[in-house]
Amino acid sequence: MKEQPEGHYPSTHWLLRRARLADNQPLQDVLIRKGRIARIAAELPTYTDDARQWDLAGRVLLPGLVDLHTHLDKTYSTLENQSGTLLEAIAVWGRFKQQRTQPELATVVRRALCTAIANGVIGLRSHIDISDASDLATVETLLTLRREFSVRIDLQFVALGQPGQSAARDAAMLDALQMGIDFVGGAPALMPDPAATVEAAFALAQRTGKPLDLHIDETEDPHMLTLEQVAELTVAHAMQGQVTVGHCCSLAFAAQSVADRVMDKVAAAQLNVVTLPSCNLVLMGRNMQPTPRGVTRVKELLARGVNVCAASDNVHDPFNPFGAYDPLHIANLAAHTAHMTGAPELYQCLDLVTTHPRRAFGHTTAIAPGAPADLVVVDAQRVLDAVVSLPPRLATFKAGRRVVHTTIEQVWA
Ligand SMILES: [Zn+2]
Repeated sequence: MKEQPEGHYPSTHWLLRRARLADNQPLQDVLIRKGRIARIAAELPTYTDDARQWDLAGRVLLPGLVDLHTHLDKTYSTLENQSGTLLEAIAVWGRFKQQRTQPELATVVRRALCTAIANGVIGLRSHIDISDASDLATVETLLTLRREFSVRIDLQFVALGQPGQSAARDAAMLDALQMGIDFVGGAPALMPDPAATVEAAFALAQRTGKPLDLHIDETEDPHMLTLEQVAELTVAHAMQGQVTVGHCCSLAFAAQSVADRVMDKVAAAQLNVVTLPSCNLVLMGRNMQPTPRGVTRVKELLARGVNVCAASDNVHDPFNPFGAYDPLHIANLAAHTAHMTGAPELYQCLDLVTTHPRRAFGHTTAIAPGAPADLVVVDAQRVLDAVVSLPPRLATFKAGRRVVHTTIEQVWA
């Protein structure tokens, strides 16, 4: 294919001057050409072509953020959940879902996506409830929005169904997957036979050729450890690297020797593990004293080389009233809940919402020549502050386009 002259791509040409890519290192100039990072150097020459220049004056430039586990179909709905338990959340949601129209859903999902993008998010994965054929209208709405937002954000969708529960439910999941949903999903711990549900989910993945993203062991019961079965089936089906597991709460409650055995299998299966600290702090450990944190064993999994990620989960719905599609807020919460508070661990918490979920998404992970220019400018002079003090985001670049630019004016008397 013939390449068009560079001048035909003015909006994806940038020269970002004096960017902070790493703490205690010289500032760097970053040249973006045709949506990709072309050069990085301490001082690049002034180019005479039409690249737009922006002097970041030492501000932090991070890889674009990725929110790997959300529920766009439930967001900005009702906060009615008196007990704060998962079971009441499911019941409240079941009632509310009947009332919401597709145009109403499209409005709130646009709001969610714009909020995320302004926070620096360039990739987001959402689970979508697929109980029966009536949910396919929601699938259609979200696929339409994916096309509408395709220049600004990469979206991946998971069919959050109930594999193996009935022929009608499996048919609805198959339809959703054929319409363009990317992942087979499910929440086996909520089903009457969790092990059979895991088996059925893998069977559906084999049948459709789709990868898996499952809600796993969102419970305090140390004996509910389908995580081990998921790891074993991943290896048995040669799906290493293609399976994502969210929550994995019961792993934290299991005896150390059991947890060690399971985590070794998780590492061997190359599972992507997503911790969801906001939602787990809200839902887990209700009526337990002392109240546990409810999050999985983040540090021990990282020590085994597992691709651990952190994500929002539910935002402003019966499952969780909190959140703003802000992965830096989630990294901060992950640091709190996993006790990752030394400087090297705080940098690692940043990986949980940048390079690690980008890997799970199938993207290049680093700011390096040749990588897509998916970037976020953070209003801070130190990378560590991105996790520690949650500074404002000033711009999000997607494939070299500055898709949103935020200006802040502070006026003192
Ligand atoms: Zn979830």
